[in-house]
Amino acid sequence: MELPFAESWKIKMVEPIRKSTREEREQWLREAKNNVFMLRAEQVYIDLLTDSGTGAMSDRQWSAMMTGDESYSGARSFFELKDTITRLTGFQYVIPTHQGRAAENVLFSYLVRKGSVVPGNAHFDTTKGHIESRRAKAIDVTVPEARDTQRELPFKGNVSLELTKKVLEENKGNVPFFVLTVTNNTVGGQPVSMQNIRETSALCHKYGVPVVMDSARFAENAYFIKTREAGYQDKTIKEIAREMFSYVDCMTMSSKKDGLVNMGGFIATNREDWYEGCKLYCIPYEGFITYGGMNGRDMAALAVGLDENTEFDMLDTRIRQVQYLAQKLDEYGIPYQRPAGGHAIFVDADRVLDRIPKEEFPAQTLTCELYLEAGIRACEIGYILADRDPFTRENRFGGLDLVRLCIPRRVYTDNHMNVVAAALKNVYDRRHEISRGLRITKEAPLMRHFTVELERL
Ligand SMILES: *Cc1c(COP(=O)(O)O)cnc(C)c1O
Repeated sequence: MELPFAESWKIKMVEPIRKSTREEREQWLREAKNNVFMLRAEQVYIDLLTDSGTGAMSDRQWSAMMTGDESYSGARSFFELKDTITRLTGFQYVIPTHQGRAAENVLFSYLVRKGSVVPGNAHFDTTKGHIESRRAKAIDVTVPEARDTQRELPFKGNVSLELTKKVLEENKGNVPFFVLTVTNNTVGGQPVSMQNIRETSALCHKYGVPVVMDSARFAENAYFIKTREAGYQDKTIKEIAREMFSYVDCMTMSSKKDGLVNMGGFIATNREDWYEGCKLYCIPYEGFITYGGMNGRDMAALAVGLDENTEFDMLDTRIRQVQYLAQKLDEYGIPYQRPAGGHAIFVDADRVLDRIPKEEFPAQTLTCELYLEAGIRACEIGYILADRDPFTRENRFGGLDLVRLCIPRRVYTDNHMNVVAAALKNVYDRRHEISRGLRITKEAPLMRHFTVELERL
């Protein structure tokens, strides 16, 4: 008999979690104004809000923390981190930052101007925020097929070369860089192929436009290239990652994802002019260039985390768990962005709550229903997150309206996934009884999803 698949690690430390009653959850969600970001963690049973900074560190990472060097400048832990990043990415210059959006803030302060145009394959929300807050324009050039959630494609996060060419042609001299996001979170944690990375970079470079890789989940992207793209089966994750970075000019990183740490980020590049430019913003915003908002011990843990998470077995364990949850949803007929993403399942809320009009936010409503059903916290990646158009101030209903079930790394077991799937099935079975959604009562002008307040209709 063939032995079944199992995790490539065992558990050394545990943290209790607690169930609640439906009555408790009704009250808590009311107090949170129907925004799950406003819940307290103790009010959540299974927390699939995000995979950002929520993972479990390994024994090697914890031991690295004990030997972290907290020197203000020139810390040994910085050089350990820098050397690891250079080995994995080929980039010589490394600027640590306190998280991914801080890397964006430093780099974009240097490069983005009012009226700039920044194309990319579906910018992450903070990336878009950092562009739009500078009165510049973020243009999404993801392949159009990504919007059809039921279509199975191996690299649904790809860049449309045709759309990119049009944007570059129409905005000559006004595009400071292209943002290539791997994996493409906004369209469902979908990967970008090596061929597409290579061709996108070649096209941008032809127009003299540098490419910045938003690399939060670069290792998961490398896993998909290894398992889905011809010619890469026999390469290691580290070799694939190195090739991915070889085509681009710079990377910004949220280490809270594929870095396997709870906090941190960095910029890495081979462009000396960008490094010099970024230094000027890193020092006042983040801190001196050899710590940039990070503790020495956290840089030490990150160096180990980057190394661990670019090993196949680690990624195989993680991505198979996401696929396990997807299989359960298939059994129950629940529609999600196909195929399953690297870090999450994105349920197609428009198709589940098909009686709720866009104006009443189906995905946010489904997020609330799932919480009320079983204390599971998911996250809306839909019309609320899309924010209003900065120029017209209209809601942006043009994209997908998804509920993201995002799986922290090395935290939950497949039994927890069974609970999530069953809870979602229960909501799905009574979907036709849910006919009204939510109305916004208070919202911030930018990145409103974090603090939005809503009432039930
Ligand atoms: C999380 C993330 C960011 C921002 O990083 P933070 O560490 O949350 O500030 C940027 N881009 C992508 C693709 C991300 O997933």
